Amino acid sequence: MNYAVNEEESFAERREEMVAQQLRARGVRDTAVLQAFLTVPREQFVPHNLRASAYEDAPLPIPGGQTISQPYVVAYMLSLLALRPTDRVLEVGTGSGYAAALLSQIVAEVYTVERQAELVAYARKRLAEIGCENVWVYHGDGSLGWPEHAPYDAILVSAGSPEVPQALREQLVINGRLVIPVGSSRRQQRIVLVQRTGANSYRQQHLSPVAFVPLIGVQGWEE
Ligand code: SAH
Repeated sequence: MNYAVNEEESFAERREEMVAQQLRARGVRDTAVLQAFLTVPREQFVPHNLRASAYEDAPLPIPGGQTISQPYVVAYMLSLLALRPTDRVLEVGTGSGYAAALLSQIVAEVYTVERQAELVAYARKRLAEIGCENVWVYHGDGSLGWPEHAPYDAILVSAGSPEVPQALREQLVINGRLVIPVGSSRRQQRIVLVQRTGANSYRQQHLSPVAFVPLIGVQGWEE
């Protein structure tokens, strides 16, 4: 038997276990979200020497001192966005590209912004390898969003901010949803769900505690 084929089968099994034990068992119910986690190979997005740990119930280090988030936390945030297949979505904090790859399975178009050039290259390479064609990666300060493609049906912020950036709220469609970790410390936040209810009105809910790397930018933390 071919070693590579064996390895891929074992990753597929671990992926199924992850979905059952880390996601379903903890209450993730959105079938599109679960299907995306069954499809996207997380081992492709972690550094090569950590492939064996790809399905652990934890964040893992990626280049630039950043992390690929814990699968459950990503699933929880994606579920809050109540995504539909026709949606156009903005992600802030591309990192490895894993969350963008998950989004690409669920919605029509994904725009993702990353401030570190090294990670822009890292994510683009991996998204191309797995054949993602509906994801666009931009190198810039995502605390300002990506105005050229706005408005978005949903926005996912994958880094922690001192407050909800005004630029991001304004890039939502009416009835659009934004999920972002917000906290007064650089390393601890609560998930905040923002819904745009009108041209100048928003509803905001504070949810579970999380620990993300900081959002560094004009409408985030200082360098
Ligand atoms: N979604 C990623 C998780 C990345 S961690 C994944 O699935 O792997 C958060 C990322 O946000 C880091 O890569 C960090 O460099 C990036 N980041 C921090 N501040 C940012 C900003 N203002 N704009 C864009 N990216 C930012």
